[in-house]
Amino acid sequence: MKPRTLEELVTSVASLLTATQAETWVASAEQVLHEVVDYFGLDVCFLRRNDHEIGATVLVAEWPRRENKPDPDPLDIVYFADAGPEFASAENLKDVILARPGGSSTAYQDRVGRASGVLAASMVAVPLLSGEVTTGTLGFVKFGDREWSTAEINVLKAIAALLTQVQERVRAENSLHYWADHDELTGLANRHSLLDQLNGRMAPGSPGPVAILFLDLDRLKSLNDFLGHSAGDRFIVEIGARLTGRCAPDALVARLGGDEFVVVLGEGVGLDDARHEAERISEFVNEWVLLGNVTFSRSASIGIAVGMPGDCTAADLLWQADQAVIGAKAQGGNAIVAFTEDMREEIEIRNIIELSLRSSITDDWLHLVYQPEVDLRTGEILAVEALVRWDHPVLGLLLPQSFISVAESTNLAGELGAWVLGRACREYAQWRARIPGLDVTLRVNVSPAQLVGLEFLDIVARILEENGVDGGHVCLEITENVVVGDLDRTRVVLQGLADLGVRVAIDDFGTGYSSLAQLKQLRFDVLKIDREFVRDLGNSPSGRAIVESIVGLAKSFDLDLVAEGVETEVAARALLELGCHRAQGYLFSRPVSAERCGELLRAGRIRVGDPQPSRA
Ligand code: C2E
Ligand code: CA
Ligand code: CA
Repeated sequence: MKPRTLEELVTSVASLLTATQAETWVASAEQVLHEVVDYFGLDVCFLRRNDHEIGATVLVAEWPRRENKPDPDPLDIVYFADAGPEFASAENLKDVILARPGGSSTAYQDRVGRASGVLAASMVAVPLLSGEVTTGTLGFVKFGDREWSTAEINVLKAIAALLTQVQERVRAENSLHYWADHDELTGLANRHSLLDQLNGRMAPGSPGPVAILFLDLDRLKSLNDFLGHSAGDRFIVEIGARLTGRCAPDALVARLGGDEFVVVLGEGVGLDDARHEAERISEFVNEWVLLGNVTFSRSASIGIAVGMPGDCTAADLLWQADQAVIGAKAQGGNAIVAFTEDMREEIEIRNIIELSLRSSITDDWLHLVYQPEVDLRTGEILAVEALVRWDHPVLGLLLPQSFISVAESTNLAGELGAWVLGRACREYAQWRARIPGLDVTLRVNVSPAQLVGLEFLDIVARILEENGVDGGHVCLEITENVVVGDLDRTRVVLQGLADLGVRVAIDDFGTGYSSLAQLKQLRFDVLKIDREFVRDLGNSPSGRAIVESIVGLAKSFDLDLVAEGVETEVAARALLELGCHRAQGYLFSRPVSAERCGELLRAGRIRVGDPQPSRA
């Protein structure tokens, strides 16, 4: 029904706009203009929105539609800077303006004239106001002259207000759509849109192979720490721009968040080409970036995955590339690693381990082997080190390297550690009960994650007590890196152990990052020279120099010194010459079962050349 009063007009416009959404917005606006034109008997009515980012007013809708609209349309996008005063004033228009023929608006008349072929006209321009911001203009044109009453102008304002509301709603809706697919910082495709597009590429029947590169910038955190997050952000934006600018036009560049990017290479790119592309990208990512007045550069770790559509899903391909980049990181960064099936196998084993470890921390699946430590001069056994083994029902016998780190990353380090200490103390107590006068040290490895646990000291005290083992007979081995972690916490724990009489050894000494200054602040009793240095002892002067300096260090700190990994008589002799007389290694004994260890302890000493069991 056609509106007959001003009130009916407003009601009708409101009802036209209630259900409007992004897709129907232009059509609805056009309908509103149509209604207004009919009601007031106008010649032209238009709605323009302000795009303050590009500094222009943009045509949204007009009624009637112009026939023979010129192309390009001079009324479509009009930049404030190069428009006449009417258009320029639209930028920040706050009040209604009325223009009547005979005014001075020649540039405007010219532009309208070129676009519509009409010269003299009267116009009302009503701003669309959203708070302080002018978001658009609503224009009402009558060829020739026309007067407007205040009531009519108020209705035009009411209509403008309704349109403003809907326009804002549409803008929000559009930006939601946009940001659902784009990364806010870089404007690149985001994870959602990457998966969307990669799903298409990996759909069965699509051309293959499909290669993707997973980039992870190395040590970006330090940049954030030194220069602040906005510098880190600018760096990421620059890298994103380089990737889009310098990758082939058919490549898709996405940012997954943080400092992670994914490049999906164009059709039919195989592994070799992907590797070349990764090398090229690695080079230009490495180039300097100017941030303020400082230049910076960061290398990238790149993981490559290549898959055939149908054989492999988008999610799987991304997972592969992610695993490959983890491999590249593990090489110390600035590396390119392609995913292989071997990696999948390793990861699967890790998963099995992860899944079965918790239920396997029982006497049924775990056991300890022991490796003696001897006095190089006499062969006397001074200590035994407990080393954990896992008899996995599916994977067979597992060495600690394959599951200690899993235990640490799944919060099982504490449980596993408590089992080890408990079992070691129990077996140690049995030896003591059976072998009169036995006075060797029991060495037990402690993982860093275990040491920082709050109940650690209580657990140690309880286990010693339960098994009737004197703290003075136990030495816990911790790696050097623990020390660097949380110095205060470590100091408290080490003091607590000292109170229990338990001694502490720094394991794998020389491979960590601790400084002497840090080590000096802590109380410990023994240094174990890492087997890497011991291995080099016999065959290189530098190996000898390193061990020599560790010996000097131990002397000046008044620490006991143990060499581990002694495999040859040459190494054993060199150690004695340098003044280290405690040693552990295959030369004397491999790790052996508790039972066999009991026999060795009963004998009390090991002579080099004694027959050894081949494995434990
Ligand atoms: P580690 O504490 O440095 O233990 C010595 C490792 O060197 C043992 O390997 C031992 O079998 C090996 N080894 C001994 N003599 C020689 C030798 O002459 N030559 C060579 N090449 N190797 C020798 P294993 O038992 O595989 O243990 C590896 C690491 O796992 C240990 O290194 C230790 O850090 C960790 N680990 C072992 N048991 C436990 C445990 O119960 N708890 C924790 N947290 N870590 C453990
Ligand atoms: Ca050890
Ligand atoms: Ca060691």
